[in-house]
Amino acid sequence: MNGSLDQLIEMSRQLGDPALDLVILGEGNTSTRADAATFWVKGSGTQLIQADQGSFVRVKFEPILAALNRHSMNDKDVADLLKSSTVEGTRTPSIETFLHAQCLELPGVHFVGHTHPTVAVGLLSCLKSRELFAGPLFPDQIVLTGASCAYVPYTDPGLPLAKSVQRELRQFTHLHHRVPRVLLMENHGVIALGATAQEVLNITNMLVKSCRVLALTLAGGGPRFLAPDQIDRIDKRPDELARRADMK
Ligand SMILES: [Zn+2]
Repeated sequence: MNGSLDQLIEMSRQLGDPALDLVILGEGNTSTRADAATFWVKGSGTQLIQADQGSFVRVKFEPILAALNRHSMNDKDVADLLKSSTVEGTRTPSIETFLHAQCLELPGVHFVGHTHPTVAVGLLSCLKSRELFAGPLFPDQIVLTGASCAYVPYTDPGLPLAKSVQRELRQFTHLHHRVPRVLLMENHGVIALGATAQEVLNITNMLVKSCRVLALTLAGGGPRFLAPDQIDRIDKRPDELARRADMK
């Protein structure tokens, strides 16, 4: 079996562990690159906790990425495209296949994990959720999830959401000169971008912890974000860079 698919299956099962409260039932989806032209993505109607080889389909990048540049497509055209782009597997690719394709095209990103952690969805459904996530609160958060995260306003799932993600990714990389490790999706959930399956798990776990910390700050007057010089110091410290590399 394909090595990256093995790792994707294991990563998906771990993300689906009920004890972590990241997803229930069919929530969430995951992906990894299969080769230069194709990627594995979760099939529709499957559960992360029960992931196996039959849960995933292999899909061509080119027609999926090309759809992102079209003005709009109706639901039937999207369904037909997902079907005609599938080269292996019997299931229909997840409706978020468009989102996964562009994330896997980012430099250094080989695994993608999209989940709906209860604490994150709660905070992302607050009236001022963008402001709540405007900065980091503690050093390990910066090491794992980065000095800042991309924020995607609520959009209809599927192709419209993927287009919003495309816009926010462009803005983020233009502003920060790097790829984000996390995308926060308003009223929806989170996406972790990793070089390895383990990194997606680490980033997701730290993101959930930072959401719990953030929720606690609301009982004491709101978050006190670290100052820019403090953030910069952690982000560039040689020991922290080494720790970040060790955890991949
Ligand atoms: Zn979702």
